[in-house]
Amino acid sequence: MSTEEKSPGYIDILIECNFCGGLVPDDFECIKCGAELLEDDPEAELIYVCSVCRADVNEDAAYCSGCGTIF
Ligand SMILES: [Zn+2]
Ligand SMILES: [Zn+2]
Repeated sequence: MSTEEKSPGYIDILIECNFCGGLVPDDFECIKCGAELLEDDPEAELIYVCSVCRADVNEDAAYCSGCGTIF
């Protein structure tokens, strides 16, 4: 018996780098320009995207309206 493992989609959280404007993972530094990113930065805008198709989704979306992946 094999455990069928679907790769479940999830909501990826990105933030907009204040320096280069790129959307990067919520991490310690921007993967594009190397600027330090502060996760508590009140000006940082969190962007929620589908991990599968990268479409914008709502923070509490149950599924992706782009590809139908269930989160
Ligand atoms: Zn940057
Ligand atoms: Zn999607």
